[in-house]
Amino acid sequence: MKPLVAIVGRPNVGKSTLFNRLTGGRIAIVEDTPGVTRDRLYRDAEWENRIFTVIDTGGIETGKNDKMIERIKIQAQIAIEEADVILFVIDGRTGITVEDQEISLMLRKTKKNVILVVNKIEDYSDPTTMYEFYSLGLGEPNYISAAHGMNTGDLLDNVVEKL
Ligand code: GDP
Ligand code: MG
Repeated sequence: MKPLVAIVGRPNVGKSTLFNRLTGGRIAIVEDTPGVTRDRLYRDAEWENRIFTVIDTGGIETGKNDKMIERIKIQAQIAIEEADVILFVIDGRTGITVEDQEISLMLRKTKKNVILVVNKIEDYSDPTTMYEFYSLGLGEPNYISAAHGMNTGDLLDNVVEKL
């Protein structure tokens, strides 16, 4: 069986954009309409002659905030159980939210490989704000821009190292 790499995180942080970037997909999976995409999408990716399956989670978002955190936690729990590597994506523009902290708590307890991904950093001008993400206790953040393909090669290097 191919190794599994799961992408988890809050809605709108750029999970699907990253999924498309990593899997080289040209089909638009980024969907604004709720309920159109399924909750989990699987597609194969290849890097450094390693083939692995990437899972995009949280396709269906109801817009109900009270349920939202529960849905992310369920996806994170499934990822903890089935994935070999978990990419935890947060929005570098918004900064850390309460939901991010809750997911971090779950991910810190697992022995699985967790890679912290700080997305949307293409306009970062103040490097000092980049240090706040260490406080999540998930190690060194990978600063990327999924939309622009910035540092996604470095991220893939880190992923295949952990497969
Ligand atoms: P998801 O809900 O976590 O799957 O997030 P999406 O991939 O659907 O992206 C949510 C929004 O963030 C979309 O409007 C994307 O175009 C945008 N986005 C994704 N990655 C980036 C990025 O690197 N930089 C910026 N500025 N926007 C991004
Ligand atoms: Mg999505």
